[in-house]
Order: sequence, then C-alpha cells, then structure tokens
Amino acid sequence: MPKQLFAIFGNPVSHSKSPLMHNLSFQGLGFDGCYTRYLLEDGATLKKTFFDLGLKGINITVPHKEHAYNACDELDPFAKKVGAVNTIVEKEGKLYGYNTDAPGFLKAISEFKDIKTVLFLGAGGTAQSTSSILRDAGYEVTLLNRSSGRLERYKDEGFETYTFDTFISDIALPKVYDLVINMTSAGLEDDSLPAPLEILKQVIPTAKACVDVIYGKETPFLKLAKSYGKPTKDGSDMLLYQGIIAFEHFTNHQYSFEEIEPHMKKAFML
Ligand code: NDP
Repeated sequence: MPKQLFAIFGNPVSHSKSPLMHNLSFQGLGFDGCYTRYLLEDGATLKKTFFDLGLKGINITVPHKEHAYNACDELDPFAKKVGAVNTIVEKEGKLYGYNTDAPGFLKAISEFKDIKTVLFLGAGGTAQSTSSILRDAGYEVTLLNRSSGRLERYKDEGFETYTFDTFISDIALPKVYDLVINMTSAGLEDDSLPAPLEILKQVIPTAKACVDVIYGKETPFLKLAKSYGKPTKDGSDMLLYQGIIAFEHFTNHQYSFEEIEPHMKKAFML
C-alpha cells in the first residue's frame, strides 16, 4: 500500500499541534502515513481540495466544521445528530464523517468524580457537540452565553440557558454547579474572562472543579479558579483524546486507544 496522506484543514491552521501528534504516532506505531496542514480559505472547496490532494483523511478545525459536515457522503450517527464533523476518512471514494471532539472532551472530564451539574460558559460550535454528549452521559448541562442568538437552538433542545443579563436577574439564584467550563475563546488571544466577574465570583467558589477548553496557556478564567483553590484543567487532554480517536478512524482501528496514547502524548512535550 502506498504511503497514506492526512492533513488538518483550517483557517488559521499554522498553530495546530495535530501534524506533530499524528506524525509521532505514525512513526511510533510503524504506520506508513504522513500528516500535514492545509490553509483552507474557502470551506465550499473542502471536498474538491481533499480529492485533488489525494488524501486519505483529514481533521477539520475552525471555521470549517459545518462545511465538513456537508461534504460527507456518510455520517456517523453522533456527527449527524450534532451537525459538526472534525474528522473525515475516505473509503472507496466516499467521505465518512465523524465528530471526535465530543468523546475526547467527555473522556477529558471523566477524572472529576461526583459531577452532576455542569455550567458551560459559551454556546458556540464546540459547546454544541460537547453539551449533547454530556447530556447523553447523564450530566445536567446549563448554558450561559454573552449573546442570546446562539442560545436559541439549545433552548429548543430543552437545555436551561441564560444570557449574562438573565442569569444575574433570575430570582432562583444562587445556582450551584459542580463543574464550570469555559467553552468560549475568551482568553485565547486576549486577557478577557468568559463572563462578568460578578457571575464568576458566584459560580466558581461553589464548583468542585473548573475546566477550560483552551490549551497551552493559563487563561484568566483558570487563574481565577485557582485563586479560589479549585482543581483546574486546560484543553490539552481534550485535544489529545480527540486526536487519538481520529487516529483510530484514520488507521481503520488497527491500534487501540492505549497503544496510540503514549506516542501522541509526546507531542505535548516537544
Ligand atoms: P465559536 O466561534 O463557535 O464560539 C465562540 C463562543 O465564545 C461563543 O459562545 C461566543 O459568544 C463566545 N465568546 C467569544 N469571545 C468571548 C468573550 N470575549 N467573552 C465572552 N464570550 C465570548 O468557537 P468554538 O466553539 O469553535 O471554540 C471555542 C473554544 O474552544 C476556542 O477557544 C477553541 O480554541 C476551543 N477548542 C478547543 C479544542 C480542544 O481540543 N482543546 C477543540 C475545539 C475548540 P457570542 O455568541 O456572544 O459571540
């Protein structure tokens, strides 16, 4: 079999750790594959670009996860349910789509025990798939978002939702959540908090732990959580675990999660 080629499509994409994660795993496991990055400017060209480049599989990052969903011939039931695809594999000329962000996230938070209620700060694309998998796993998820527009679909799906204003004015306060999670990009490239301090000062002290999906830096949100002595976790494990699950799909399940993990993990030390 010729060497199989893989890539991550995104815009921007230069910061992505995925090439290192997958190439270290190919090398460590002796799989004849190569993984690169591709700056995809127009999401509508995703399918054509995939075939023009002769790829076997791709990961898709911001802002193309919906385009990726539309490009697939076949969808895994969970990807279909949440409407977002971050992993595509070509099999006999057809594109198969999966979502590995959500199971990766679920595994990343499994270290926190006795968690029932979860507060999501943010309601964007990542919140969409992760809220769904958490609910299926038995967690009660509430979403708090800066603007109201993005909350509509969650409301329709029966989630409890708040904007900053309605959270502050709701008379049922104080609300207590076991886990508070920053699902926004606040703190990624700036020093902003994902919600007003007034709200964070209410929900963090009563939480058992706080998590951020941003990785590779201590965000203002995690700093604040630490100042209250809370256990914290950034998005590195989510990134690692979504990558391992994608690798399982890329290599047609030739390797187990446990076999892939030590190789992919090295990307976080380099
Ligand atoms: P989206 O663009 O889909 O959504 C962004 C969300 O963040 C919206 O709810 C938006 O609110 C909110 N937001 C943005 N800036 C602020 C701010 N300054 N204050 C308050 N709210 C803000 O992004 P994604 O869901 O795709 O990504 C969210 C985060 O998840 C990113 O930081 C990304 O890096 C991270 N991520 C991490 C992964 C990992 O493996 N660790 C995997 C995927 C994503 P509004 O509706 O009001 O605009």
